[in-house]
Amino acid sequence: MQAKKTKAELQDKDLLRYNRNIVLPEIDIDGQRALLKSKVAIIGLGGIGCPTATYLASTGVGHLCLIDFDDVTLSNLNRQVLFSENDISLKKAEAAKKNLHSLNSDIDIKIISQKIDSGFDEHQLVDYDFIIDCTDNFEARTEVNNICLTHKIPLISGAAIKLQGQVATFRNDLDDMPCYRCLYNDLPDNSPTCLESGILGSVTGLVGAILATECVKLICNIGQNNSSKLMLIDMKNYEFKTIKIKKDMECKFCG
Ligand SMILES: [Zn+2]
Repeated sequence: MQAKKTKAELQDKDLLRYNRNIVLPEIDIDGQRALLKSKVAIIGLGGIGCPTATYLASTGVGHLCLIDFDDVTLSNLNRQVLFSENDISLKKAEAAKKNLHSLNSDIDIKIISQKIDSGFDEHQLVDYDFIIDCTDNFEARTEVNNICLTHKIPLISGAAIKLQGQVATFRNDLDDMPCYRCLYNDLPDNSPTCLESGILGSVTGLVGAILATECVKLICNIGQNNSSKLMLIDMKNYEFKTIKIKKDMECKFCG
């Protein structure tokens, strides 16, 4: 954490806008300054990426990078709460930047309308403090994992299908930590998609809110953050479970 800062170093407008954050003893002035200075990349602007980006922008994360290659469609609107009917056919990254700036014009937002695959230039992400993976396929997740491992960037990962969700935090910045592929060493050949199985927008909203909260906790150093962990959410049966992720010593990615 930074040395104790005085209130004078935040503008009056910031003190007002972020008052409810600053009143929290876990955040305070130091935490708000850390939030305003931090750089977070959000990959995938679907049902999970939209609420994640919205909460990080409203909380005052000062530098966001939004990555998505896709366009907004009508079938997105049951869950992708950052978009409206007026955004249909626009690039998601461009529409998200426009709408987030109408929420908070003080933050810096960079957009990349590219697919995350082996052709993606990872150097676009090396300066980011945290990467949040909100993508919907294992190929992209593996690529994001590789980027985070290579550059020792903490990864927060979220997924949802039907009435279930998962959130996992990987402290790639610390030594001997498990990675995403330690958790999923065998990738499923045919994992069900939202199109096939359905997804409730409030469940992706829940996962996105947890991802944003976890990111704020890491930035402000709140709670126990020095392990890699998985949260399993089952809203059909009203259950949350949290488990510690073990490192796979045979993992080909981080081993
Ligand atoms: Zn691993």
